Amino acid sequence: MKSQNFIKLNFPSKSVNEAFARSAISAFCAQLDPTVEQINDIKTAVSEAVTNCIVHGYRDTFGIIYITATITESTLTIKIADKGAGIEDVSKAMQPLFTTDPNGERAGIGFAVMQAFMDSLKVKSTVGKGTRVVMTKKILPRG
Ligand code: ATP
Ligand code: MG
Repeated sequence: MKSQNFIKLNFPSKSVNEAFARSAISAFCAQLDPTVEQINDIKTAVSEAVTNCIVHGYRDTFGIIYITATITESTLTIKIADKGAGIEDVSKAMQPLFTTDPNGERAGIGFAVMQAFMDSLKVKSTVGKGTRVVMTKKILPRG
């Protein structure tokens, strides 16, 4: 059997918890001995996904954000899910610069950032049920 390790985090969709999630995932993946750049990439991707759950998934409300981070050999897999609004058209939502933000405060680049900083990104969503983002990144041993 492949060696595997995981953590699970559940927390309410308060913005104060975004920094916690970012730090917790970063601490968990330290066991893969990532470079500072890799750590920063992972933190940024987690930050974008969690922020989406807070501002879009649970827009005008609060709910629980569910994170599972798994390390299987040298691959880190991060699942971030909400049980909020869901996305009508996922492929459209994933296009760079697409945003449903009515206030002009968002750039619509969260998914593009996750895609750029991780090796893979999958988004599954059902309107009224919620959204799940699964990202992976391989951290090869150094030296
Ligand atoms: P930015 O991330 O640049 O601040 P943004 O959040 O609008 O702007 P993306 O993160 O790329 O951009 O997301 C694109 C769109 O996908 C959002 O505007 C929103 O409509 C939808 N979306 C993303 N995540 C969720 C989610 N968890 N629940 C519901 N809708 C989502
Ligand atoms: Mg976003």
